Amino acid sequence: MIDTHAHIDFKEFDNDREEVVKRFFNGGGEKMINVGCTLESSKRSCELAKNNKNIFASAGIHPHDADTVNKNSLKIIEEIAMHYKTIAIGEIGLDFFKSTTSREIQIQAFRAQLELAENHKMPIIIHCRDAYNDLIDILKEYKTSDWKGVIHCYTASWEIAKEFLDLGFYIGFTGIVTYYKDKIENNDNKPEIYKTIDNMPLDRILIETDCPYLSPVPERGKRNEPIFVKNVAKKIAQIRKMSFKEIEKQTTENAVRLFNL
Ligand SMILES: [Zn+2]
Ligand SMILES: [Zn+2]
Repeated sequence: MIDTHAHIDFKEFDNDREEVVKRFFNGGGEKMINVGCTLESSKRSCELAKNNKNIFASAGIHPHDADTVNKNSLKIIEEIAMHYKTIAIGEIGLDFFKSTTSREIQIQAFRAQLELAENHKMPIIIHCRDAYNDLIDILKEYKTSDWKGVIHCYTASWEIAKEFLDLGFYIGFTGIVTYYKDKIENNDNKPEIYKTIDNMPLDRILIETDCPYLSPVPERGKRNEPIFVKNVAKKIAQIRKMSFKEIEKQTTENAVRLFNL
């Protein structure tokens, strides 16, 4: 079991970070990717990764902080990215839902970090909210690139997922998949995300927590932590009518392959 998207460097874990890490690795967790979203959190992610052989880091600036992307910050992100425990650039992307930074600035920051990933041939971790079409258009411009990466916390339709798959991306699912009333047997009432999961090629599915946010049921409302990624795997197994073990094994292999863990 691999949590491909955690933020245990956040202050929510200041009082019990070590116990949280132990709970994960003692409870069946194999590896964890701690994802940077600012300059500071990218540094902290790399520090966490240096201190635990099964924690890996990514470095990047989230669209919410796109206005902090400049020559200097990019240089530091690049330095962090060169550490052997940093395995991806991210989370980068576009968020037109509630971001205070303008679309133009977000797009510029996204492109600059895409180029960084391209130069160093690193996988990317993409955050996208209410901006799928713009994001796909930008990715298609770099078509010569053989993109490796994940669209994290995916909640949209199968049609859009298909476009990302065609570009070479993996799709990451969070606790959000557990938030729907079960109507798995009834095709007409299936939530869109269930249809996406149903159609997904098994070798492109990743599981993640995005902790401390998005706790899966039955932990919903509490602080999320990496061990709860098993609830995401359980739900996907239920939707796909497969065993937890099979989904666990498959998603672990996928994460190892994508991020070269
Ligand atoms: Zn995100
Ligand atoms: Zn995140």
